Amino acid sequence: MQDEEVTQPETTPTPPFTFKDLNFQPELMEGLNAMGFEKPTPIQQQAIPVIMKDHDLIACAQTGTGKTAAYLLPTINKIIQHPGDYIDTLIIVPTRELAIQIDEALQGFAYYAQVSHIAIYGGTGGISFEQEKKALTQGANIIIATPGRLISHLNMGYVKISELKHLILDEADRMLDMGFSDDLNKIISFLPKKRQSLLFSATMPPKIRDLAKKILHNPEQINISLSKPAEGVLQAAYVVYDNQKTELLKSLLKDKKVASILIFSSTKDKVKEIEKDFKRSGFQISAIHSDLEQDERNEVLRQFKNKNLQTLVATDILSRGIDIDSIGLVINYDVPGDAEDYIHRVGRTARAATTGVALTFINPHDQRKFQKIEELIGYEINKIAIPPHLGEGPVYDPKANAGKPMRGSFGKGKGGGGHKGGGFKSGGSNKSGGYKGGGHHTKH
Ligand code: ADP
Ligand code: MG
Repeated sequence: MQDEEVTQPETTPTPPFTFKDLNFQPELMEGLNAMGFEKPTPIQQQAIPVIMKDHDLIACAQTGTGKTAAYLLPTINKIIQHPGDYIDTLIIVPTRELAIQIDEALQGFAYYAQVSHIAIYGGTGGISFEQEKKALTQGANIIIATPGRLISHLNMGYVKISELKHLILDEADRMLDMGFSDDLNKIISFLPKKRQSLLFSATMPPKIRDLAKKILHNPEQINISLSKPAEGVLQAAYVVYDNQKTELLKSLLKDKKVASILIFSSTKDKVKEIEKDFKRSGFQISAIHSDLEQDERNEVLRQFKNKNLQTLVATDILSRGIDIDSIGLVINYDVPGDAEDYIHRVGRTARAATTGVALTFINPHDQRKFQKIEELIGYEINKIAIPPHLGEGPVYDPKANAGKPMRGSFGKGKGGGGHKGGGFKSGGSNKSGGYKGGGHHTKH
C-alpha cells in the first residue's frame, strides 16, 4: 500500500469540500461513487474530519441530513486502513428497523472493501441468535445492535469487545425517550475505557447533554439545529372533529397519484383501525406497529420502499430515522404528542432536496398542542377548510377550543397570506435545517 493512501489529511479541509478532499481509501471512494454520493452534506462536512482525527463527538442535526454516512464513512475508512480480528466498531440504535437500515447502507458503502458487519436485534428466532453469537465470538468489524439484544449476548461472555475502538450511539435522543438509559450504561460497562465515542442525535435536550458528559471524553460539538421542517415541505392542517377524520382521509386518498403516502397515528389501535377500515373500502394500504412480528414489519416496509404498496399507516415507530425515498405525502391523522415528533413525521417527506406535502388533522382537543408546534417551528401553518360534504368543522381557536364553526375560507391563520399549490403554505425559509444547514461548530 502506498504511503499517501494511509496518510490522513494534515489539515482539515474547509467546507464546502468534496468527498475527494477527504483522502478516503480507494475502495471506499468506489462504494461512494456506486451509491451516487458526490458532495458531503453539511453534517458530513463538519463531522467526518473530526471523526477522522479520532476526536469524540456529539453531533446534532435533524432527520434526513445524512448522519448515517457522517459516521459510517470515516469508520469504514479507518477499518480499511487498520483491519483487525476483534470488534472494531459498535453502533447502538433504538430500533430493529434502524439497525437493518444502517446495515444496508454499510453494505453499500463498504461493497468494495473488506469490512465485515452484522446487525443484531431482537424479535428473531433461535437460528439468528446463533448466527449473531458466531459473529460476536469471531469478531465482525462493525456491529449494529439494539440495546436489549446486545446485552443478552454480552451477558454470556463470548463477545469479543475488549479491543473495541469506536462506539457510536445513533438516535441517542430516541434511545433515551424509549427508556434505554440503564441499558446503555450496562453496555458501556463492558467496553474498554480507551475508545472513540460518537453520539448522534436529532435533538439536543438536557438529558442528551448529561449522557454525553458520562460517555464522551472532551468531545467536539456540532449542532446544526433542528426545529424546522425541511424547506421543500408544503405544510397545511385541517381543523376537524374526530368523527370527520375518516371521511376526510378518504377524500384525500381517493384518486391520489402520489407514489408513496405515509399516514401517522399516535396509537397502534388507531393504526389498525385505519388499516382495516380502508382495506375494506378498497384502498391499497398496510400498517406497521409494534404488535407485528419482525418479519411482517420488514416485509411491509420492503413493499412500501419498493413502491409496491402505495399507502402505509404507522405509529411513531417510523417517524424517526427510517429512510424511505420520496414520500410524496405525509398525513398526521392526529397531532403528535411531542412537538419534535411533528418535525420527525413531516421529515419523512421532502428528503434530500425533493418536495413533499404534509397534512395534519387537528381536532379541538389537539389545537393547543398544534399551537405549541407552531411556536417551536416559528411560523403558523395554514389551516384549510374541510371539504363541504363533511359538514361544518370546528373553529381553530387554541385558547378557547370552541366557538363558531369555520367555513370555506383558506388561510384563517395569520400565516395564510400568499399560499401556493392549492392552499398549502410552504414551510417558509428555513435557514438552519437540512442540506442548507447554517450550523455552528464549537469545541467545548
Ligand atoms: P439522518 O440519519 O440524518 O436522518 P440519513 O443518514 O438517513 O439521514 O440520510 C438521509 C438520506 O440522504 C439517505 O437516503 C441518504 O442515502 C442520503 N444521503 C446522505 N448523504 C448524502 C450525500 N452526501 N449525497 C447524497 N445523498 C445523501
Ligand atoms: Mg439517522
